[in-house]
Amino acid sequence: MVGSKPYTLRCPSCGTRNRIPPDKAGLSARCGRCKTAFSTQILRESRPVIVTDGNYGTTVLRSPLPFLLFCWAPWCPTCGAVAPVMDAFARDARGRIRVGKLNVDQQPAVADRLQVRSVPFLFVFDNGKLVDSMPGGMNQHDLMMKMARYL
Ligand SMILES: [Zn+2]
Repeated sequence: MVGSKPYTLRCPSCGTRNRIPPDKAGLSARCGRCKTAFSTQILRESRPVIVTDGNYGTTVLRSPLPFLLFCWAPWCPTCGAVAPVMDAFARDARGRIRVGKLNVDQQPAVADRLQVRSVPFLFVFDNGKLVDSMPGGMNQHDLMMKMARYL
């Protein structure tokens, strides 16, 4: 999303939403409520992040942005077709929604916790809570429509 609209990042310490002016993206910021300093590098990230059993808590549950998690498997042809859609979405939603990829074969603990029964599958998290889930075989347009309220 290009534009002058401020970004909104949750403080990693207290969860308060802080507005970040576009010209401050990438710089360090300070929470207006608890004064904790935090990085805004995430606003410049335009590729999906790799989610693992080890980083799920900090990356997904404590994400400063709403988080879209793409669960996939190497043997799944549909996943291969959806992957470029996720890459394009991560680029278009940069600074508004963070996108992550989870290989369910390599990261069984998270896959089990989310009860992933089929791939591809998408989960949406906001403020540490699972807020939406959907089968992931969708095109970019449908994904944009589905995620519009977070953009
Ligand atoms: Zn804070």
